[in-house]
Amino acid sequence: MLPYQSLQEAEAVLRRNLTFSETLWFNYSARKSDYFLYCHNILFLFLIFSLVPLPLLFLEIKRLAGFDKHKIQPKVRLSLDEMLRCYKDVMRMFLLVVGPLQLVSYPSVKIIGIRTGLPLPSGWEILSQLAVYFMIEDYTNYWIHRFLHCKWGYEKIHRVHHEYTAPIGFAAPYAHWAEILILGIPSFLGPAIVPGHMITFWLWIALRQIEAIDTHSGYDFPWSLTKYIPFYGGAEYHDYHHYVGGYCQSNFASVFTYCDYIYGTDKGYRHQKKILQKLKEELKNGVEQNGGSYNKQNDKFD
Ligand SMILES: [Zn+2]
Ligand SMILES: [Zn+2]
Repeated sequence: MLPYQSLQEAEAVLRRNLTFSETLWFNYSARKSDYFLYCHNILFLFLIFSLVPLPLLFLEIKRLAGFDKHKIQPKVRLSLDEMLRCYKDVMRMFLLVVGPLQLVSYPSVKIIGIRTGLPLPSGWEILSQLAVYFMIEDYTNYWIHRFLHCKWGYEKIHRVHHEYTAPIGFAAPYAHWAEILILGIPSFLGPAIVPGHMITFWLWIALRQIEAIDTHSGYDFPWSLTKYIPFYGGAEYHDYHHYVGGYCQSNFASVFTYCDYIYGTDKGYRHQKKILQKLKEELKNGVEQNGGSYNKQNDKFD
């Protein structure tokens, strides 16, 4: 809730006219409690989990040739029923874990000092904070994910997320409830270290989920704008991690590629990529091969 009764009062305190976006924010948030504003995340997450994977579901059913050639594991096809079952499981987890977690985590948002008032952050402030959040999330997630691949972590918790050896968009948040809780830490750490405005926080939660859906999409589109993000892992990078499965000691990072490079956990992937490149060249030259995306060449990693 904003501590001003009117736009004029806000302008008097700020000693300037409000910008267009600040006026919009004032009109929207002035009479709403901070708790209510924070809980918008529940609605955003529900909409993102439900709507963003829909075009991928459409592609999976229709198998349009122009898109289908970019499917990373072309031999694996899920039926509509299977994809809807995944969505239902994700929604159940959303109602039982993600939603309640959002409802009760509000005090921590207050403690770290996420603000809702005016002035609004500049575009540059929002962008730089989001970049920091992504980097902190990536680094922390890398080590938690790596820990979850130890025998105990995998068998007790992380095995659920790996049920999809060829991931689909809906499967991005598909995981054991404990994993959803644990991975809330990396998502929260960035805003805790560099607290910003509620709008930045909303954007962060939304973009992180959209990024997770993108990396689990099962498609590697060459025209994707994410190709321009330095060190961005993307769908093909994470797909390899799912393809290899429980014994995978490669591609742990959630967003970027540099952690795996620095800590030497992308050797299997890079080796495999070289083999795939060779296969593609052979295909171009008309050499026959039987292949799914990763083919039999991967046996050494299983
Ligand atoms: Zn994993
Ligand atoms: Zn995954």
